[in-house]
Amino acid sequence: MVSNRKFLFMLKSNMGIRKDMKIINGKIITGTSPNRILDGYSLYIKDNIIEKILPNRDIQPPDKKEEVIDAGGQFILPGSICAHTHFYGAFARGISIPGDAAKDFPEILNKLWWPLDRALDEKSIRFSAQVCLIDAIKHGTTTLFDHHASQNFIPGSLDIIAQEVLQSGARGALCYEVTDRDGGEKTLQGITENMRFNGVIKNRIDPDRLASFFGLHAGLTLSDRTLQKARDVAPEDLGFHIHVAEHTSDQDNSINNYGLRVVERLQRFGILGPNSIIVHGVHLNDVEINLLAESHSWVTHQPRSNMNNGVGMAQIEAMDKAGIQVCLGNDGFSNAMWEEWKAAYLAHKLWHHDPRRMPASLIAKMALTNNASLASHAFRTEVGTLTKGSLADLIFVDYHPFTPVTEGNLPWHIVFGFDEGLVTSTMVGGKFLMTNRELLTMDEQRITTEAMQYAQKVWENFQEISSQ
Ligand SMILES: [Zn+2]
Repeated sequence: MVSNRKFLFMLKSNMGIRKDMKIINGKIITGTSPNRILDGYSLYIKDNIIEKILPNRDIQPPDKKEEVIDAGGQFILPGSICAHTHFYGAFARGISIPGDAAKDFPEILNKLWWPLDRALDEKSIRFSAQVCLIDAIKHGTTTLFDHHASQNFIPGSLDIIAQEVLQSGARGALCYEVTDRDGGEKTLQGITENMRFNGVIKNRIDPDRLASFFGLHAGLTLSDRTLQKARDVAPEDLGFHIHVAEHTSDQDNSINNYGLRVVERLQRFGILGPNSIIVHGVHLNDVEINLLAESHSWVTHQPRSNMNNGVGMAQIEAMDKAGIQVCLGNDGFSNAMWEEWKAAYLAHKLWHHDPRRMPASLIAKMALTNNASLASHAFRTEVGTLTKGSLADLIFVDYHPFTPVTEGNLPWHIVFGFDEGLVTSTMVGGKFLMTNRELLTMDEQRITTEAMQYAQKVWENFQEISSQ
């Protein structure tokens, strides 16, 4: 048994003897704007930061303190960032939803997501986070913005997820989804959980591993009183993370009950702003888009989810033109973010009957440039690019193109050629979480076996809650 004090000492001494690292023989995609591909360069890592990237001709012979990693000619990219996800939805995979199939998004919420979040307990919250983090690391996603709900296990729920994020080695920006849908006591618990966790974050010695937001479900389950309360208690530097106009019902509810469109209502309560994440924004008019642009709010786009729920497509190109930094999330779909690239690329062309819509370059802007800006803002340090001074979050991709890859056409190679199975190694903060497809921080076999056993209990709880 190692005492706390001894453990801390071991951590410190390990950090003290950590070798500098040099990664050679890779094609480095910087993820910067404009993007660059550096062939014939080596990438130096000191502690958790990229110290420098030098042409091979300028390389000094390695000294004994330096660990040399040979990337074997693979592409080296910044780790993918997911700007909006729901770990808590993991046990929805394969679940049997009682009754007739849900006919629209409000019925999907009522028949699937709300009974499921009420069915979660401590163990299932933990498993949900674990299996999603395994999925993320395997598919090269290193930073995730999670939006959590577990209405029968609220206090402490974010600590469980945070523990798993830290154990996995990834980065997580967490929040609890405040809603009035289960009564005033749960509303208050949700508010308290966000504020409590924000306090925990502020006291951590490694602030670049965890970040916090103030989670809000969506306008349609939030009263004016609750929005006001959220604004009153949240400090200015704590951003909100909220679903907005995902379906027409959110606009109908807002207009009919409050006489305002959704974004106008959120503006009235001070929910918009440069720290806040607005999720989806499928049904917005020009006035609302301008409000989001003027307030410098972030917007996230999740096309797989939008297609799955049949809710429509957001005006992403108009938002981009208006100056909004639109990011890319997955809304709980697999953490293979290139799948989201592909969905975005195809969905907008079909939706508009126009193959000119949603060029891959705009998707790269969302998934690389804007997601990196959002993560850098949230974690208050440079993350999401391979440049001097950035956190060393990177992945090796074993892609063998048969046409030239250039800085200009890279986004189309990612859409048409990249595949999550090509990710062989994943690093966060200079530490490998996976090498040669072997996970180093999480025991996938044990976790999936135990989660599989527990799934029966979660599904039984779900059926019972659904029948009430
Ligand atoms: Zn969502």
